[in-house]
Amino acid sequence: MIRVGVNGYGTIGKRVADGIRLQPDMQLIGVAKTRPNFEAEAAVQKGYALYSAIPERSRLFDEAGIDLHGEVADLVSECDVIVDATPSGVGAENCSLYREHDTPAILQGGESPDTVDESFVAQANYDDAAGAELLRVVSCNTTGLSRLLEPIDGEYGVDKARATLIRRGGDPGETDRGPINDILPDPVTLPSHHGPDVQTIFPDVDIDTLGVTVPATLMHLHSVNLTLETEPSASAVADLLSRQSRLFVVPPELRIDGTAALKEFATDAGRPRGDLWENCLWEESIAVEGTDLYLFQSIHQEANVVPENIDAIRALVGRKSAAESIALTNDRLGMTTARQHIQSPQHRTPQPADD
Ligand code: NAD
Repeated sequence: MIRVGVNGYGTIGKRVADGIRLQPDMQLIGVAKTRPNFEAEAAVQKGYALYSAIPERSRLFDEAGIDLHGEVADLVSECDVIVDATPSGVGAENCSLYREHDTPAILQGGESPDTVDESFVAQANYDDAAGAELLRVVSCNTTGLSRLLEPIDGEYGVDKARATLIRRGGDPGETDRGPINDILPDPVTLPSHHGPDVQTIFPDVDIDTLGVTVPATLMHLHSVNLTLETEPSASAVADLLSRQSRLFVVPPELRIDGTAALKEFATDAGRPRGDLWENCLWEESIAVEGTDLYLFQSIHQEANVVPENIDAIRALVGRKSAAESIALTNDRLGMTTARQHIQSPQHRTPQPADD
């Protein structure tokens, strides 16, 4: 069993902890939190051992009547791998603690690539992670772009990639984020940081990205244009993409017209928190003009890095191949089950409109 701890139990950390608990080859030793709140209560109710992330604040947990198993240093020393899901910049500060205990750690996309040995997307560079001290699961947007580029570059060759990222203003629980009534070029200068970040995974890909931030919380939307080295048909591209386990090619007959319907669909499918771990690409948006491929995809920012973190744990300790890990992660998260649900006959048959 790989003994894993999660330091930083927020949007990403709590989802990764739940995912780890489902893996047959991993043991969740505990999670570290900075203060008692509803998420700390929920962690305790799930049976997760709670550690104080900031020792000076341990007494706050006592005062709230929440039992602590120890402090974050104890958690780090008890684990084979730490997943650090603290806010941007805090992960880099925590690295000295991980090094002190000789515990390899996985940081998140908010950290600089220079902080770590490798940046990581499971289907692209799993094998490079073995033995690393510090790994970084790239951001939700970079993960989404990399998952798309990998099969297309492999099959058709990507001469030039361009993507406009229409980004959610904040996560649903983030009341202090915005804009609430604007459309912001973000950044107004080119490129956005996402293109260079994709190049930490695919150094040779020529990519330009633009960012826009809008008053939405549910998901990001990418408008993608790839200039290919060959001229495939749109249906061949759709077929290739529909065979990728972490891409969900949304069939037209589901009548999913946007990110709100996608989230509703995931909730109806029984996904925890309505999470969409896959990139969601609209089949109807896939178009090819000569060597230019166009499509829209949506990324659930709270969820798509969760399977990558789980694979990153296995990649660090080097006990399974990429294909084995990806298949196991998908299966245990329930991605396969939802895919079967999506592809079941009643969903493939056009339904009469009910409105
Ligand atoms: P979050 O704010 O939801 O959660 C971070 C948690 O860490 C909070 O519970 C916070 O209290 C806690 N924390 C703060 N300081 C800490 C410390 N010193 N030690 C331990 N815990 C501490 O943030 P998030 O959205 O989960 O983001 C975490 C990381 O994941 C960031 O690098 C972010 O860029 C990246 N990421 C976020 C998203 C997203 O859309 N939410 C998507 C992909 C990657």
